[in-house]
Amino acid sequence: MTNARTVRRIIQSHRQREGAGFIVRRPVPTVGVEQIDPFLLVDEMGPITYAPGEAVGAPDHPHRGFETVTYVLQGEAQHEDSAGHRGTIGPGDVQWMTAGGGIVHSEEPSDAMKRDGGTMHGFQLWVNLPKRDKLMPPRYQEVKAAQLPKATTADGLAKVTVIAGEALGATARIETRTPIIYQHWVLEPGARVEQPVDAAMQGFAYVFKGTALVAGREVKDGQLALFSSGDSIELAATERAELLLLAGQPLNEPLARYGPFVMNTEDELVQAVRDFQAGRLGQIAR
Ligand code: FE
Repeated sequence: MTNARTVRRIIQSHRQREGAGFIVRRPVPTVGVEQIDPFLLVDEMGPITYAPGEAVGAPDHPHRGFETVTYVLQGEAQHEDSAGHRGTIGPGDVQWMTAGGGIVHSEEPSDAMKRDGGTMHGFQLWVNLPKRDKLMPPRYQEVKAAQLPKATTADGLAKVTVIAGEALGATARIETRTPIIYQHWVLEPGARVEQPVDAAMQGFAYVFKGTALVAGREVKDGQLALFSSGDSIELAATERAELLLLAGQPLNEPLARYGPFVMNTEDELVQAVRDFQAGRLGQIAR
């Protein structure tokens, strides 16, 4: 028995300045929507084309209590952190960073992009950690584009890249702390697919190219469609469209957030700020 989900709300993304001054499209959080538990933030970076010397990122800053997930479609990001981890995230690559108890990192365009300019397009998601994991040791999972599981419907009209969860028989390589679905769907005209989304999860689709039909409802570029309860969602398109499908089991725990820290209580936030100011989240060795 399947119980198809419908769209219960459409949220329009707004534009917001981040880091050293790059613009993102942000559907969540927004006025009246603090989170879609367990997702704290959804940012689409670009697409933006930088002239030589123009590209900017997010210099050294801390995080505690949640995970940041970076998925690059175009361009190249470079990161370094206080745990001594450094690397480059190129087109199609994913970095799933569990900040846990705390980390200081920098997220910048690559040196080549800063020098020569270029187009940057990608996503950053903040996934909350359950209370029991908030102070876990920091952890990285980096998966290159070629290693991300991909699948296509029999008619070839719907393609999916599986970052978390399972779709069309392809299973993600990334391990999540709580059950999460994160998929990038490319829909050609005439595509139609029924994707299971566990009934215990809260889910949504964020369309970033064209117009998709989510449970029969038109969802345009820059809009997020929040699903009703159920155990599957129908994705379709009459024109070429691309979207992220996200779903997760809500934590249903108290939320206390302040900038780059997301904890359960105000006291824990105060402690996070103190620990950062005292240098206890570390610093990047250069
Ligand atoms: Fe960050």
